[in-house]
Amino acid sequence: MSASRRVYVDLDDVLCETARALMRLLAGMFGKEVAFEEIAAFNLQKSFGLTEGEYERFMAEAHRPEALSGIEPVPGAVEGVREWAEAGLDVCVVTGRPKACAAVTRGWLDRQGVVYSGLLFVDKYGRRDSWVEPGDLLSLDDLVREAFLFAVEDEPGTASYLLRNARMPVVLLSRPWNDVFRFDEEGKGSLVRCRDWPHMMAWWREQNG
Ligand SMILES: [Mg+2]
Repeated sequence: MSASRRVYVDLDDVLCETARALMRLLAGMFGKEVAFEEIAAFNLQKSFGLTEGEYERFMAEAHRPEALSGIEPVPGAVEGVREWAEAGLDVCVVTGRPKACAAVTRGWLDRQGVVYSGLLFVDKYGRRDSWVEPGDLLSLDDLVREAFLFAVEDEPGTASYLLRNARMPVVLLSRPWNDVFRFDEEGKGSLVRCRDWPHMMAWWREQNG
């Protein structure tokens, strides 16, 4: 049993509906309609069928403070995180956003009433694109040296890394881009797939009942 009371909670598409906001941005910028269920690849350049140049412009736009501030919370997320905080857990928000987004991200979390004790910027995707400001991000390697009770993620690559290297339970919030992801390796972390926040909270209450 870990003595840690910290939990790792991803931000985009776990606490906030980033993909849905990006679908609206895609329609506005390029007149393209893509259904949520069609976002089969986490790589949005691929899922949205954009050229490299279009994707760069799109991501620069997506990271503007006005765009990030307007993203809706995921149903049940704010309530779920509050329940964890009330149970004495330290909720650590772990994001792959560029560090330049720190102020707008904190603003969003506070405005939505997310009870969290830390915000970590982690190099989850090895992004070196032109829209990413250089900043001192934590590596995934640094991150797994920190003890967490469990992690909540939607991105298959990061989930896989955590399961292999941090060996903690990883709760995967079901999204079209992680539909085919499976993990079952002996001696590693366990994958818990949940369809939504209420389902995740039921899993957690069951563990702690
Ligand atoms: Mg995410």
